[in-house]
Amino acid sequence: MFKAILLEEVGGKVTAAIRELEDNRLPDFENAVTVAVEYSTLNYKDGMILNGIGRLVRGYPHVPGVDFAGTVETSDHPDYRPGDRVVSTGWRVGEMSWGGYGEKARVKGDWLVPLPEGLTAKRAMALGTAGLTAMMAVMVLEEHGVTPERSAQDGPVLVTGAAGGVGSVAVALLDALGYKVAASTGRPETHDYLRGLGASVIVERAELAEVSKRPLAPVRWTAGIDSVGGTTLAHVLAETAPGGSIAAVGLAGGSNLETTVLPFLLRGVNLLGIDSVMCPQARRVAAWARLVKDLPMEKLDAVTETAGLGDLLTLGKEILKGQVRGRLVIDVRA
Ligand code: NDP
Repeated sequence: MFKAILLEEVGGKVTAAIRELEDNRLPDFENAVTVAVEYSTLNYKDGMILNGIGRLVRGYPHVPGVDFAGTVETSDHPDYRPGDRVVSTGWRVGEMSWGGYGEKARVKGDWLVPLPEGLTAKRAMALGTAGLTAMMAVMVLEEHGVTPERSAQDGPVLVTGAAGGVGSVAVALLDALGYKVAASTGRPETHDYLRGLGASVIVERAELAEVSKRPLAPVRWTAGIDSVGGTTLAHVLAETAPGGSIAAVGLAGGSNLETTVLPFLLRGVNLLGIDSVMCPQARRVAAWARLVKDLPMEKLDAVTETAGLGDLLTLGKEILKGQVRGRLVIDVRA
């Protein structure tokens, strides 16, 4: 038996409750690995799934939780043995198959990565999908010629939705790598928090949220990491330096994008999509290794709070309202 959050659909409405489940209810796969889960996380997508929003889940009953870390209990996969420490993010775990909001999870072994050396399971989940995504965004900007020197010369790298999970890790990471960082937030109470993570410029969310009539505006940013989408992304595109790049990560502020081709034609701006879910395994492993090397752990600890499975129903609503700050680790055994 194991304890988990079980979502059920009754009359088109999704309900969530903590239940004791038999092990034989776990999904099965070829090369399956069963993991005793220690920690999971709360991501924006988990908030959507917990609240039955967005049709991300294939079928009910369902155990959500898109990230988890723990110890292998049984393995049909040649690369994993009982006792191995592992991490799971992406591959639609917690959406198309059962995820990490339970004391046990079973996934395809190919979806796991070994717990990166130098990380505890808790810190791996303090990173989770959000941390991995922030790292992938930084890697893609670097591959397109964004450098700390350019951020000093052409304008800072702008992080939007900065007090959220992806945003907080991105600010800390960029600062640690020597970039000049601007952070956009809608929460004035997080200004000191963002400065503490390394932002030297704070931009009010409202300033970027207005509908802009101008496809090009005076240059303010050398690059951007955007969690917000919508009018915010249109603003960032209009204000990015010639040859600059924007890593488009999320849509917390909307999925529509109203712009023109002018930022691309007249300034050669690159709009680069980030997909941490189906990202190839080699790049995933490289991103984990970079996180361990480049992100100061005391900064990660400063953005992390811990909660239990029982707190998730409330927190799942708060994250959708943009009220969660930084990263929330879920201790599934609490
Ligand atoms: P969080 O909720 O932790 O952060 C999102 C932040 O966006 C909030 O903290 C808030 O920042 C800002 N925000 C929220 N609502 C609005 C709004 N209506 N208008 C403008 N800004 C808003 O979520 P995550 O960091 O986990 O995820 C951020 C986004 O990235 C989500 O859309 C998520 O789905 C996506 N994502 C994509 C991934 C990928 O692989 N592409 C992987 C992970 C996440 P503040 O208070 O500072 O303004």
